[in-house]
Amino acid sequence: MSPLGTAGDGSPAGGDAPAGVRREVALARFTTVRTGGAAELFARPSSAEELVALLRWAERRQLGVGVIGSGSNLLVADEGVTGLVLKLGGALAGIEPDGPRLRCGGGARLPQIAARAAQLGLSGIEFGVSIPGTVGGAVRMNANAYGGELAKVLEWVEVATAAGTGRRDPAQLGFAYRRSSLESRAVVTRVGFLLRIDEPERVKATLADLRAQRKQAQPSGIRTFGSTFKNPENPRAEGRSAGQLLDAAGCGGLRVGGARFSPKHANFVDNDGTATTADVVALMALGRARVAERFGVALEPEVQRLGPVRLPWEQRC
Ligand SMILES: Cc1cc2nc3c(=O)[nH]c(=O)nc-3n(C[C@H](O)[C@H](O)[C@H](O)COP(=O)(O)OP(=O)(O)OC[C@H]3O[C@@H](n4cnc5c(N)ncnc54)[C@H](O)[C@@H]3O)c2cc1C
Repeated sequence: MSPLGTAGDGSPAGGDAPAGVRREVALARFTTVRTGGAAELFARPSSAEELVALLRWAERRQLGVGVIGSGSNLLVADEGVTGLVLKLGGALAGIEPDGPRLRCGGGARLPQIAARAAQLGLSGIEFGVSIPGTVGGAVRMNANAYGGELAKVLEWVEVATAAGTGRRDPAQLGFAYRRSSLESRAVVTRVGFLLRIDEPERVKATLADLRAQRKQAQPSGIRTFGSTFKNPENPRAEGRSAGQLLDAAGCGGLRVGGARFSPKHANFVDNDGTATTADVVALMALGRARVAERFGVALEPEVQRLGPVRLPWEQRC
């Protein structure tokens, strides 16, 4: 593993590794917050067959496996990630229309799907325009926005493991607030969306409206991973969101190293370009402690972790 800034050259892994596996590939550029170190091994499968072969090889070699989508809700460890990190490409990132249905690869990006659906006059996935992640990340995280629900438009989900690929009914995926029951080594390869036929102009107008709402509510053009903490269910929060609690606890603009909570939306971390994942974690701990002290509410992270990213409050448990 290489620490931040000293990643190797991404040279071929060699040995018995499938073609395309590279060593020491820097991951920060595959995340929206742009922090973290390198993957020990990295591959970009472009078909389900290639992906299953990689998963089988990793299983034989007893390697850890991680998947990175758009890295839009992900913190990568500064010291890097051992094992194999996968990023889906090619046909696994495609969008295929079929009447009111869209078949999308696990690596297809939600804003592109929303835009394509609008062009085709298909409604139901408009909320995806505001979520800068992939289908796979959205399924794992049960991503939602503006009342739109992934589960309402998903017809089936194809998942790959070392045993091969298989289709699952969305009802089997245990969707709950920002989580699913997908096993950690399972990779979403493709999904089917069933949408409603509508007027393209009307769907496009909804997208424009959602983009404008987003621009007003959230900072744009910053290096961030979106919501840091989940909105708490604790009655002591009195219905306030994580962002409102952080704001009321004086966290907007609070900084550790190159990371700060955005003054516009305190649940968003903003990397000024020099932040490390350690800075982000220290900032999260500070914000969480302030909210706990002021309101007696323990915030839980929404952001996912790849590699050994340790949250100080979890270590004390
Ligand atoms: C500006 C901004 C706004 C955001 N707004 C919203 C919002 O409104 N609503 C919302 O829900 N989220 C929002 N997010 C968070 C984020 O976009 C979503 O959580 C998104 O679903 C993550 O997808 P991703 O592809 O980026 O996943 P990543 O961040 O790359 O990964 C997240 C998790 O998904 C797993 N994963 C990724 N791909 C796959 C796959 N193919 N198969 C299995 N597991 C996979 C990863 O291993 C990881 O555990 C926002 C983020 C940003 C930066």
